Amino acid sequence: MKYDLIVFGGGTAGVSAAYIASKLGIKTLLVEKSDVLGGSITQGLVVPAMKVNSSNINTEFYTDLLTFANKYSAQHTYIDNNSGWFNPELLKIVFDDMLKSVNCNVLFSSCPSEISLSFNDGSFNVVLSHKLLSLYVETKYIVDTTSNGEIFKILDCDFQNTDERTQSPSLRFNIGGINTKEFASWLMEFDKDRNVTTVEFAENQVYLSTACTWDKNKNWALSPIFAEAVEKKVLEYEDTAYFQLFSIPSMPDCIAVNAPRIILDEGDDIRDPFVYSRALMKGRERICRLAEFCKKYFPGFENSYISHISDMLGVRESYRVKGLYTFTKDDIIHPKKFENVAFCSDYPIDIHSNSSNDDELEFSNNTYQVPIECLISEKYNNLYCAGRIISADFDAQAALRTQMSCFSMGEAAAKDIYKKLFSV
Ligand SMILES: Cc1cc2nc3c(=O)[nH]c(=O)nc-3n(C[C@H](O)[C@H](O)[C@H](O)COP(=O)(O)OP(=O)(O)OC[C@H]3O[C@@H](n4cnc5c(N)ncnc54)[C@H](O)[C@@H]3O)c2cc1C
Repeated sequence: MKYDLIVFGGGTAGVSAAYIASKLGIKTLLVEKSDVLGGSITQGLVVPAMKVNSSNINTEFYTDLLTFANKYSAQHTYIDNNSGWFNPELLKIVFDDMLKSVNCNVLFSSCPSEISLSFNDGSFNVVLSHKLLSLYVETKYIVDTTSNGEIFKILDCDFQNTDERTQSPSLRFNIGGINTKEFASWLMEFDKDRNVTTVEFAENQVYLSTACTWDKNKNWALSPIFAEAVEKKVLEYEDTAYFQLFSIPSMPDCIAVNAPRIILDEGDDIRDPFVYSRALMKGRERICRLAEFCKKYFPGFENSYISHISDMLGVRESYRVKGLYTFTKDDIIHPKKFENVAFCSDYPIDIHSNSSNDDELEFSNNTYQVPIECLISEKYNNLYCAGRIISADFDAQAALRTQMSCFSMGEAAAKDIYKKLFSV
């Protein structure tokens, strides 16, 4: 089998790269390790997609996503006119539909096991494993959107140096069976000055968001409730590290919880398979306590239950590849103009720290451009990356990793490959 492009990883950046490439007529194969598309959005339950700058480019995938999502009532526009409120379950169907519409070949339950470079023309020879079967494929280009740089690892490419700092992972979950109207009314009264709470009664359901973290510099309305729960041993102190609630479109009795944050032990590295596995177990244990806490303390949650636990650990940062250009914090604070821009953003540097009072949210107040060179391997000019593994330093990655930016990265990579393939 011969392809022009293989996209490895059918997650946030991968679906965009494969969709746009196929729409442009590039013969594309999308290889996904799991049985669903969407990655962090669907398997990881990460909603909503945070809004980035209105002057962003390479937003064709996102525009099409809104059209497809609306067919399935899988999207809502809320808070600051952000259209990125998606339903993670329905998006599994939406992404299938999108990829089918552009005739992209998709392989689920498949991973690369070997990749080598052909000395004749520089294309890649790939061995794919699907359960016990092996498939042999040839491709001119690869985009690695596996979020851990799996292809860069196989091809023995270098990664950015690790930073002493680390971002803590989270394991997200959803709670169902909530009387959301009752909860919203209580919340509006409880957080009267609306420091962090938003509520909107839309046509068919209530939309709300609220938060509380252990950062004492912020004025969280829910703080006294969390403090009482810790005192009464309903929660452990670390359970209070970070807690955010978001409504989900077409799930009126369900709320997405951006928690628990999993605090890593000193010296632990999330890339270590044992640290990763312990984090998952710790996360599920915390979910159990947090769900009981909600039931006990929040009016409207009396009959609630855990409806979904994320199938993947929510890792914010692990490997960052070495590209032709490494985007830095300075490029965010003092934006530069680049010749070939992959995307634009004004999203702040958003570091979820491993200790209390240490979270960072640094705004630049500027729109910054990110060049395509951050998506091209320094070692092979036909190997691209997109998503949270972008070639960037620790701080810059913390600003570039949001979903809208990942969508644009996938699209930018696909369009750049198109230009090279067809010399346009
Ligand atoms: C807890 C948490 C909360 C967040 N909150 C928000 C938020 O509210 N809004 C926002 O915009 N962003 C948020 N983010 C950031 C954002 O969701 C991620 O950075 C982004 O989705 C990552 O996209 P990606 O394409 O790099 O990886 P993913 O979307 O994770 O996709 C990677 C894909 O690769 C597949 N894969 C892995 N290995 C292989 C392999 N060897 N072969 C084939 N396939 C493979 C995986 O199965 C997966 O489908 C959050 C992140 C986390 C962790």
